[in-house]
Amino acid sequence: MKKATVEVMKSKPAELRQESGRIAELMREVLERIGEDPTRDGLVRTPIRAEKALTYLTSGYEANIGSIVNGALFDVRYDEMVIVKDIEFFSLCEHHMLPFYGKAHVAYLPGDKVIGLSKIPRIVDMFARRLQVQERLTQEVAETLQDVLKPRGVGVILEARHFCMMMRGVEKQHSGTVTSAMLGAFRQNKETRDEFLSLIKQDASRF
Ligand SMILES: [Zn+2]
Repeated sequence: MKKATVEVMKSKPAELRQESGRIAELMREVLERIGEDPTRDGLVRTPIRAEKALTYLTSGYEANIGSIVNGALFDVRYDEMVIVKDIEFFSLCEHHMLPFYGKAHVAYLPGDKVIGLSKIPRIVDMFARRLQVQERLTQEVAETLQDVLKPRGVGVILEARHFCMMMRGVEKQHSGTVTSAMLGAFRQNKETRDEFLSLIKQDASRF
């Protein structure tokens, strides 16, 4: 049932994304329409740079969970909580196409398997490099981990700042937005949730 959310966000047709130069062409027109002169020195190569940047920042549409995980699921007898915290992420809000960025904290309680730790930031990137809202990004990371790993539970917390709020003066510059998704034991069991919260609050400088 919850899978549907993830599936809605699946890749756009590759042929549309690979039609190189088309976004640059449109960017040239954007420059004109905001009152710029796209032929002046500083801007001549801007459309093509902007195309490359945008293509990279939305490359998550082409990422594939199978090739990210790539068999890095291991049978390990470990039933304590696994946490990867302070994962930096950068995304684009789907309402303004302006950046939002911050930190993700991801935890799970293993079932039969654990996942290679480096895979978790890559799963975050897969969904961050798309047009997003923070709430859905949080949910997609949690549900994908639940799907792939079948753990006893998953907890995901995202702390982020949104340029669309900071730059447009909608809210105070230093206000952050926190979202969370708790599945399985993290949803049902307050102790599990509290353990997760206290572990991510611990000062990283101890390490
Ligand atoms: Zn926005």
